[in-house]
Amino acid sequence: MLQNESSQQVSSQNLPLTVAKFGGTSVADYQAMLRCAHIIKNDTSNRLVVVSASAGVTNYLVRLSQESVPSDEQVDIIANIRAIQVNITQHLANDVEQHLNDEIDTLLNQLAEQALNQSVHHSVKQADAILSFGEQFSSRIFAQVLQSVGIDGAYFNVQQVMKTNSLYGKAVVDIEQLRTACNDILAVKLPQQVLVTQGFIGQDGLGETTTLGRGGSDYSAALLAEALNASNLSIWTDVVGIFTTDPRITEQARAIKEISFGEAAEMATFGAKILHPATLIPAMRHNIPVFVGSSKEPEKGGTQIKQKVDSNPVYRSIALRREQTLVTVKSPAMLHASGFLAQVFGILAKHELSVDLITTSEISVALTFDNPSGSTQALITSTVVEELEQLCEVTVEHGLSLVAVIGNGLNCAKGIGQSIFQTINDINIRLICHGASANNLCFLVNEKDANHVVEKLHNELFSF
Ligand code: ADP
Ligand code: ASP
Ligand code: MG
Repeated sequence: MLQNESSQQVSSQNLPLTVAKFGGTSVADYQAMLRCAHIIKNDTSNRLVVVSASAGVTNYLVRLSQESVPSDEQVDIIANIRAIQVNITQHLANDVEQHLNDEIDTLLNQLAEQALNQSVHHSVKQADAILSFGEQFSSRIFAQVLQSVGIDGAYFNVQQVMKTNSLYGKAVVDIEQLRTACNDILAVKLPQQVLVTQGFIGQDGLGETTTLGRGGSDYSAALLAEALNASNLSIWTDVVGIFTTDPRITEQARAIKEISFGEAAEMATFGAKILHPATLIPAMRHNIPVFVGSSKEPEKGGTQIKQKVDSNPVYRSIALRREQTLVTVKSPAMLHASGFLAQVFGILAKHELSVDLITTSEISVALTFDNPSGSTQALITSTVVEELEQLCEVTVEHGLSLVAVIGNGLNCAKGIGQSIFQTINDINIRLICHGASANNLCFLVNEKDANHVVEKLHNELFSF
């Protein structure tokens, strides 16, 4: 069976396979990388390692991928990226350091050339090529850090297997091709060596570099785990698991020991940055348990995400997604008419705009759109507005945040609305969505109120 070939090859050596993903802070510097190397060493099932760029590097690259960046700024950024990477390599044996620094400098020369070109002739294709450098550095370095602790670690170029379409910036992975390529190329190597590969990046049919969207390394790791029929996926990050809300918003947030795929997927979708929104899709498809823990404090355990969990509380967590756009379309022609919404959605579909929340009244409809972080372009362009204005009156509002209360049976439990909205009765709520899903109740508030709302609600709903 093709589908199980990879796991057979790995398990024929009695090696259960865990895909371990380390995020940016986990590979930020030498000490952090060393901690990750020990995590790999302590569990021999960790055979495939997926790394993000060292913390801060992708943000620098985002700047280099923009138009009209002054050349002295380009030079400074490249020097800063180099400093982050050579600060790590300096801790390795001299010959390894020399070899890695040569590779880093070769890549940096390519980066400098592309950045210069990009500042004059901007293209989304070139932007992706520029964004991919961070993972290229960190994966090469981490393979050597593994070697330094006695693990036979080797660099693996993910572009050999992660084939995508050419939607630069949010490329879509060809899952069948990934599975076949993983069987043909990766699976045979895994029993021999621990392979270190890049999250976030792929390659299209033209051989050009693509990226899967900011924070996409989690998703890369999940796709690889699925393609290899891995027994586990571990996401190592800077917090000891998934919390009841972002621990940066309130110190009352508590780590959750066990959570179902469905609940965790809702959290990721509604902005819990701990997981890229698509991460759990491959894991759910193949029922691969996911662990989320801190690479700084692995001894503290973390969160297990799995199909079935013992408790299904009404309130599980609160997620927050910033930078939401609200579009209200209004037309008296909508009253008792059919086909109006189809026309509105036709325009949105033509512009590849994905609607998030919807509420309707007699003659108007309010629609929200997510603005994925890192996107620099206006989501609702003047062309979209002009086309909609042919049909109706259009209002576009920015500066809003979406608060999602996530749990179980929220569409039928008694007193939900009162507990939530009574708690925040000092806040102007712009839109509410409730009833479509048993797992969430969502509303929009002004950006400036968002943290306060989450903090207050968390105190009320999660007072342990
Ligand atoms: P990595 O670089 O490892 O991918 P991220 O910064 O993408 O890490 O995600 C980890 C961060 O996610 C945490 O530092 C935390 O601030 C944020 N976060 C948001 N919501 C949650 C949540 N519910 N539980 C835990 N962390 C959360
Ligand atoms: N390095 C990429 C980013 O910062 C991908 C990731 O870290 O997941 O978005
Ligand atoms: Mg992340």
